[in-house]
Amino acid sequence: MRTIALIAHDGKKADMVTFLRNNLTLFKRADIALVATGTTGGHVEQAGLTVQKVLSGPRGGDAQIAARLAVGEIDAVFFFRDPLDKHPHEPDIAMLMRLCDVHNIPLATNPATAELVFAGLLAE
Ligand code: PGA
Repeated sequence: MRTIALIAHDGKKADMVTFLRNNLTLFKRADIALVATGTTGGHVEQAGLTVQKVLSGPRGGDAQIAARLAVGEIDAVFFFRDPLDKHPHEPDIAMLMRLCDVHNIPLATNPATAELVFAGLLAE
C-alpha cells in the first residue's frame, strides 16, 4: 500500500483536479491510499476518488500531514503550491517541505513533477 498526500493551494486546485482526472484509473488502484487537506480533499472526492481528509491547510492540515510523514505513514506528497499568492500558514508549508527533505519523501510541487513521481511510485 502506498499513501499519497494531496494538497493544492486555492489557485492550483483546478490543476490538481485535472491531474487526478488524467490519472483516475491509476489513482483508483487498490494499493493507493490518499490523504488530503480539507478543501483539496473535497475536490478529490468530487473527482471520484476516496480520500481521508484532515483539517484545511490554514487550520493545521499541512501540519497534520507533516506529522504523519515524519513517522513514515506517507510515501509521497503532491503539493501544488501557488507561488503567486500569499498564505497565512506559510510556516506550516515550510515545515512540511522541510520534513519531506529530512525524511527523504518525494515532494512534487507542480503537475509535471507529480506525473514523474507518480509513474516512479507505480513502477516500484
Ligand atoms: P486546503 O488547504 O486543501 O484546505 O485548501 C491547502 C493549503 O492551503 O495548504
